[in-house]
Amino acid sequence: PSAETSTEIAPAVDVLRRVFGYDSFRGDQAEIIDHVIGGGDALVLMPTGGGKSLCYQIPALVRDGVGVVISPLIALMQDQVDALRNAGVRAGFLNSTQGFEERREVETAFLDGELDLLYLAPERLRVDATTRLLERGKIALFAIDEAHCVSQWGHDFRPDYLMLSELHERWPDVPRIALTATATKATHAEIAQRLNLGDARHFVASFDRPNIQYRIVPKASPQKQLLDLLRTEHPGDAGIVYCLSRASVEKTADFLTENGIPAVPYHAGLDARTRAKNQSRFLREDGLVVVATIAFGMGIDKPDVRFVAHLDLPKSVEGYYQETGRAGRDGLPSTAWLAYGLQDVVQQRKMIDTSDGDDAHRRRLAIHLNAMLALCETVECRRVQLLNYFGQRGEPCGNCDTCITPPESWDGTVPAQKLLSTVFRLDRERGQKFGAGQVIDILLGKRTDKIAQHRHDQLTVFGIGTELTDQAWRGVVRQLLAQGLLAVEGDYGTLVLTDASADVLARRREVMLRREPERPARAASTPKA
Ligand code: ADP
Ligand code: ZN
Repeated sequence: PSAETSTEIAPAVDVLRRVFGYDSFRGDQAEIIDHVIGGGDALVLMPTGGGKSLCYQIPALVRDGVGVVISPLIALMQDQVDALRNAGVRAGFLNSTQGFEERREVETAFLDGELDLLYLAPERLRVDATTRLLERGKIALFAIDEAHCVSQWGHDFRPDYLMLSELHERWPDVPRIALTATATKATHAEIAQRLNLGDARHFVASFDRPNIQYRIVPKASPQKQLLDLLRTEHPGDAGIVYCLSRASVEKTADFLTENGIPAVPYHAGLDARTRAKNQSRFLREDGLVVVATIAFGMGIDKPDVRFVAHLDLPKSVEGYYQETGRAGRDGLPSTAWLAYGLQDVVQQRKMIDTSDGDDAHRRRLAIHLNAMLALCETVECRRVQLLNYFGQRGEPCGNCDTCITPPESWDGTVPAQKLLSTVFRLDRERGQKFGAGQVIDILLGKRTDKIAQHRHDQLTVFGIGTELTDQAWRGVVRQLLAQGLLAVEGDYGTLVLTDASADVLARRREVMLRREPERPARAASTPKA
């Protein structure tokens, strides 16, 4: 008596069950699929793990012709196509890793109408032969995966994506579906505009991932902090640890292994065979930790990743959200843990200052970093902040570190003034710039060699900041940086004032700071799903 025995089952549901083996659609899937099968354009914003693939795969199978999928994930095309073939779907791909023969086989299959899905690397569109090929076949739809790559504003711009608007000019009647897991309001608007998706229906799923517990802690000795986290809360669990550099990936993987936690490294400097081996071990084995640069993870579909840890500050909230989103796809409680410190800010500012590209590019990078810092230094619910960043509303979640142990905010105007006036005096009276370490030593009145050498004990500000500890002062510096009241520059991370600093020094502006909770949140209070 159920739908299963009905003879009038909708073709989409039939494909869902018969080909993919699932009972029912999730979230907006049914509506999106229905819309695209009907020939409509769609712009789909859905978090990682939300189930975007079916949104174009099923319409491609139901509609006449071949579904053409544009994807920048060249390294994964083989796996994606293999998985589809295993399910009985006729799929192929064209990208630069293929030889002539292999490419020709796929082209022949396409022309003979023997493909359901054709994955195309965006750089293929630069080749005239590709358009000529597409013109000789029948196209069911264009799917534009990772559509945020068209956005110059975003964090992952690919120039080849700009050519995608031409597809619409050549094939005005073929429906297009653009999909992404990263979209702020600005990116969202830019995708719609650049891809000419003015008439498309927009499907915006909630970006909330309620089973992920977000925690951001001050960085002290990151490897030990990580080990403590894994031993106390995630023994035997699979997880991903992100580090900024290849060297720290290697060191951290060794450190975990030496301490009895099975871990493998993953970064672009490893040879392809080692990378593939470590990735497939991670997918297949239980409880393996992969320590990786951000080269790892795009398109990785492992449901039971119990934690994602960052030992270095991500460059943007988009990146952070995408990386942490790899935890807990199965819906069970998972941890997103980030350790961040002053040095991260100094390092990232330096990377921005020395990055290729024009000033506008550097300004964009700085805006991304500032948003990330604001998330780190917030006294409010992390989840609410994240959702707001993506233009969505939320209520305090009760399941992030700031909800569990609310950090106090305190009036830090006086310490901020002391710190800023030290930076001011060094510059004004001595024409000198120093990093946070020296400035804090001056405030604390420490008699180090470096203090003596520069006669900093003669400054009127020497020793005026003994009410705070060294650690607390570092927190003040970090937060002033995050609030734009202070800046760092140059190779040595020297501190300099900003336009806004003057308001604080002139007592025109109060500075609210965050006091780190004594005992950071633990997963013990995670509600069991
Ligand atoms: P995304 O591309 O949005 O990150 P995927 O398309 O890779 O997500 O889907 C994530 C996981 O959810 C995959 O394992 C997929 O098979 C599974 N999935 C997607 N839709 C459904 C569904 N309707 N029912 C059950 N599982 C689903
Ligand atoms: Zn919260």
